[in-house]
Amino acid sequence: DLGIPAARPSPPRRVSRQLMVGSVPVGGDAPVSVQSMTTTVTADVDATLQQIAELTAAGCQIVRVAVPSADDADALPAIVARSTIPVIADIHFQPRYVFAAIDAGCAAVRVNPGNIKKFDDRVGEIAHAAKAAGVSIRIGVNAGSLDPRVLERHGKATPEALVESALWECSLFAEHGFDDLKLSVKHHDPMVMIAAYRQLAQRCEYPLHLGVTEAGPRFQGTIKSAVAFGVLLAEGIGDTIRVSLSAPPVEEVKVGTAILESLGLRPKRLEIVSCPSCGRAQVDVYRLAEQVTAAFEGFETPLRVAVMGCVVNGPGEAREADLGVSSGNGKGQIFVRGKVVRTVPESQIVEALVEEALNRDWSETGE
Ligand code: SF4
Repeated sequence: DLGIPAARPSPPRRVSRQLMVGSVPVGGDAPVSVQSMTTTVTADVDATLQQIAELTAAGCQIVRVAVPSADDADALPAIVARSTIPVIADIHFQPRYVFAAIDAGCAAVRVNPGNIKKFDDRVGEIAHAAKAAGVSIRIGVNAGSLDPRVLERHGKATPEALVESALWECSLFAEHGFDDLKLSVKHHDPMVMIAAYRQLAQRCEYPLHLGVTEAGPRFQGTIKSAVAFGVLLAEGIGDTIRVSLSAPPVEEVKVGTAILESLGLRPKRLEIVSCPSCGRAQVDVYRLAEQVTAAFEGFETPLRVAVMGCVVNGPGEAREADLGVSSGNGKGQIFVRGKVVRTVPESQIVEALVEEALNRDWSETGE
């Protein structure tokens, strides 16, 4: 006994109600879904649909579009009709756009009660219209636009304040018999966000939409989202995710998908495993890893491909890879499931890996 604690099994998924966002189930035992938001002017129907198509191709399952003006609301029917994934209308300020979105056939509406004056007075009407149309609603509480009444009580956007705001709005909908709600309590600080979602998870059974708001540019936003979502999802908390990046939304989908893959919540498609390089490396590992990643872009077979910088540890270190290369003396040893199958000049490594990937029957088990 080395005194090392045994690995704990993952805790079970938090119990939540399931609702539908169009054709995509969210909550309950539904797989955690990835969503994003368009950055086009929504009223520009062609540009918005083009971006939705790009997001869909990247694996986005639900898309949200901002509806800040009447022109945007008017564009919703055409967007909904031609999008192949469910469309959520994102409404701040104007309750009348909520009704326009429901009439347009949007799969769901996101409202930010903190930004809608007299929202509480309109909840009954909104609940009635949404129920009649089978539309679900996300109550999206954001640290930056917290309900002023809640902000006054708590002084700032604490986890308790975010949760109180979300649950208060839920209670208004519940009074009208409307339960198809999902909730988000976003904050830019992952630690505050994690605390808020943990509290919310304990206090209700509504499905949860995870997000770190204003997470930042690509690198910082990726790190913050991966850390926060990783903690929560590993605890079984979270039913749909949106990574917010100051970057093209396709990047958000790629990051969100990779987070789910890394947590084992979605089957990996292709994984490139590359060594960090060290003083033993006999090839430019960084460049080779990039070339291999580019060559395998879009490859659907769920292979793990290893790129190792030297032959000393190459196949051994990557024994769990399906396919890989270890480099040395200007050559690459190509290995399949830990066994060297051929040796090629360095310039042909990428080509040889692709050939091996294409020419084998990967449905056979390795052992
Ligand atoms: Fe260093 Fe070789 Fe290991 Fe890469 S595979 S980290 S080069 S020892």
